[in-house]
Amino acid sequence: MADVLKTTCSYCGVGCGIKVKKDARNRVYVEGDPDHPVNRGMLCSKGMNLHHVVNNTSDRILYPEMRWSRSHPRERTDWDTALDRAAAVFKSIIKRHGPDSVGFYISGQCLTEEYYIANKLTKGFLKTNNIDTNSRLCMSSAVIGYKKTFGEDSVPVSYDDIELADCFLIAGANPAWCHPILFRRLEKHKENNPHIKIIVVDPRKTDSANFADLHLQIIPGTDVVLYNAIGRRLLDRKQIDHDFIKKHTEGFEKYRDLIKSTSLKNAAKICGITVDEIKDAADMIGASQGFITMWAMGLNQSVIGSNKNFSLLNLSLITGHVGKPGSGPFSLTGQPNAMGGREVGGMASLLAVHKDLGNPEHRKEVADFWGVDEISPKPGYTATEMFEALEKGKLKAIWIVCTNPLVSMPDVCRAEKALQQAKFVVVQDISHRSDTVKHADLLLPAAGWLEKEGTMTNSERRISYLPKGINAPGEAIPDVEILCRFARKMGFRGFDYATTEDIYREYSQMTKGTNIDISYLGYDRLKNEGSFQWPIPDYRHPGTPRLFTDRKFHTPSQKAVFNTPYSTENASIKPDSNYPLILTTGRIRDQWHTMTRTGKVSRLKTHYPEPVLEINPVDAYICKIKDGDVTEIKSRNGTVRVRARVTDSIREQVVFLPMHWGKQLQNDHSRANNLTNNIVDPLSKEPDFKYTAVSVSRY
Ligand code: SF4
Repeated sequence: MADVLKTTCSYCGVGCGIKVKKDARNRVYVEGDPDHPVNRGMLCSKGMNLHHVVNNTSDRILYPEMRWSRSHPRERTDWDTALDRAAAVFKSIIKRHGPDSVGFYISGQCLTEEYYIANKLTKGFLKTNNIDTNSRLCMSSAVIGYKKTFGEDSVPVSYDDIELADCFLIAGANPAWCHPILFRRLEKHKENNPHIKIIVVDPRKTDSANFADLHLQIIPGTDVVLYNAIGRRLLDRKQIDHDFIKKHTEGFEKYRDLIKSTSLKNAAKICGITVDEIKDAADMIGASQGFITMWAMGLNQSVIGSNKNFSLLNLSLITGHVGKPGSGPFSLTGQPNAMGGREVGGMASLLAVHKDLGNPEHRKEVADFWGVDEISPKPGYTATEMFEALEKGKLKAIWIVCTNPLVSMPDVCRAEKALQQAKFVVVQDISHRSDTVKHADLLLPAAGWLEKEGTMTNSERRISYLPKGINAPGEAIPDVEILCRFARKMGFRGFDYATTEDIYREYSQMTKGTNIDISYLGYDRLKNEGSFQWPIPDYRHPGTPRLFTDRKFHTPSQKAVFNTPYSTENASIKPDSNYPLILTTGRIRDQWHTMTRTGKVSRLKTHYPEPVLEINPVDAYICKIKDGDVTEIKSRNGTVRVRARVTDSIREQVVFLPMHWGKQLQNDHSRANNLTNNIVDPLSKEPDFKYTAVSVSRY
């Protein structure tokens, strides 16, 4: 390894630059890269402890393991035997049951090259679109929002717009904990410019909410009503951009009729806030020169996630705050390869380079590029559908890459049973700490961060190159190598890449002439000049910090579209006398996802040593619970038992559980997703994690 290796953090979608060095004992350590445009030397608690994860290999999967039947234990095997077996089983299942009987479930942590190969393999060669990713649980509602508003899944803004804006609406997100370096930039901006306004919409008084000028502590599920009411106030006060609406949008009349029918008084009642709070929020937005909306899982993880996205995006359109400095909608992504997977079509409903699976011409273009006869027009199973299909026996084999669904899936007990029903389960991962590993018939050891090379795209469309710095332990190899070797065992041509760069080059050529063109951006520029924001349409192009500056959008009419929410009602399963409280789930400051990595670092456990239920003092009194009591939380789907934290930082009738803990790291009753249900948004197919009816009692 070079004395100093520059790379990117492997946790959240902020994409901070990291310098990696080695100490006298040959162990790596990390520090923030002061020259990086995103973090300017800063790292959050998770990022600054990344080296502990790398140096401690005690949990790593070191060699392939296989079992011949469920009644036998898995035993060590070699790579050839493992992949021969995988190919034999996949061929046999496809021959008997057709290509749609197999599927891949992958991850937003995969590098773009890994995502690309998994998609090419599945959609091009296995002839099924059954490939989905844990991004389905994260960003798919935002993808629908962007596509239907701007014509493509395109985030218009840059982090540098933060320092140019004077009003922020942060909705269903707690960036102070979950996107800390972005929040540090926002804090600094406010410190330097006290007049800027920050509005936070959240049922919890989070650190982000405590920093805000205005906290709208709404009842979960009422966001659409709130944003429509803000729209109404802006309309009434004539604080809308008529010129932008007339020249650059379509669908305004229908939207205007909807918001005109929204009474502020009714909206306030539905949302559980005051009319004055709605007016204050609208007036701050209306008076601003630069208005940015930021949102995360509070909007996306909902049975009306697409509607929530539409109603928020409409506020940027009605005020004309798109395509100009310090303005625009900005989704905050949870995973490190925030956009790379979406770029290569890494979901059951997408095709590579933002092409449309439902469009026969697009399917032909992709098929021709890969040299295959056709791409199936049939949409594949999405994440929850995949587990339902396993349960029903329609899906026989599943290959899980770099994700831990037995902690992260909704209604996780059902997902666990579904996995037990599968004929063949392949798990390709780095850590034995994943709850999913024990269900593997075939376990494949993958290389982790710093042990392989590739690229990622962060939340602001910034592509970074991540170099290999150290060797993977044991027999672990990079994910692309595993997938290419499997493809060759299947007898498929087109997977003989000499290097990962060859894969990147192939994918980047696919982008030529598209709205995400990176065909002129090679590893050489990424290595020598640093990261770039797409599109990069020529060899010397510096990258594109802001989209739509010409106010021409990617829709057929080149106009942005007001999407009138199909319903203002929340379609979640409502509380009743048996389950009177609303559970919402989320992250805590120092843990990431299912803790397979951050859970290894002892100093990251001090903040929250165990999962706790946040409950309001009024509800705690009604439920006869005191702070620190072990509580039993029940829903129609399952049970969780954790200690209570009685706090007025959460609304009455709402309780909160962190989503990180699984059976393996705690116990059978610690998984928040024992409780959640798997109903999904009809357009995005994203689950309703943020709204579950529960009861709470002392255990
Ligand atoms: Fe890593 Fe995100 Fe923290 Fe930056 S903010 S150091 S990308 S976890």
